[in-house]
Amino acid sequence: MSDVDPPLSRVEPDPAVVEELAERLTAIKERIVAAGGADVTLVTVTKAHPAVAAVAAIAAGATDLGENYAQEFLAKRAEPGLAGADARWHFIGQLQSNKVRKLAGHVDLWHSLDRPSVIDEVAKRAPGAAVLIQVDVAGEPGKGGCAVGDTEPLVGRAIDAGLDVRGLMTVGPNGPAELARPVFSCLATMVAELGLSECSMGMTNDLEVAVGEGATIVRVGTAIMGSR
Ligand SMILES: *Cc1c(COP(=O)(O)O)cnc(C)c1O
Repeated sequence: MSDVDPPLSRVEPDPAVVEELAERLTAIKERIVAAGGADVTLVTVTKAHPAVAAVAAIAAGATDLGENYAQEFLAKRAEPGLAGADARWHFIGQLQSNKVRKLAGHVDLWHSLDRPSVIDEVAKRAPGAAVLIQVDVAGEPGKGGCAVGDTEPLVGRAIDAGLDVRGLMTVGPNGPAELARPVFSCLATMVAELGLSECSMGMTNDLEVAVGEGATIVRVGTAIMGSR
């Protein structure tokens, strides 16, 4: 018996799946351009899909991947096909302070800092990290985000803690996409007023509205990866 561990099995995506994902990515990019977004970062949200699907998305041309849940994120990041993958990783889910230490070092952009304890923990565990502050503009509970009025002090706190605050993130309200327009318009105004640059807003159902209101980052799951 060898005393060397066998290599972990590498997940190989099905070429037909890669081709289909490439077509969907192209279709989403066309929707973004048609909505007036020339320079928008497309984050492909792979939550609830297996690691092999994330490998396939990267093979299909996805440059930025988003995950919501710390455990799932870390499991995917440890997969042989993803550990060294040439992609940027976005943490977009609600953050708990006790998960931050493990996530640190694996996240390229944190989207969901929304309270002092989480800001302080990210600053401690991932000094200088690139972050967004999540704002609950729509006022819908359960989605995370700080109150609009708390945004400026939280941005200040994150900057004082040495974080690289790039901008703000929000989740649109449930319902028809047009309901999100005032919400996205408000977020874009706040980003400008605070002198920030990134505006992370828009998902499968409201991405055109988000781009129209000035999104610089959209987070799209279902329209690329299929239903969860
Ligand atoms: C799941 C999720 C997305 C992607 O949603 P889709 O409707 O599948 O495109 C984007 N942002 C956040 C914060 C999410 O939780």
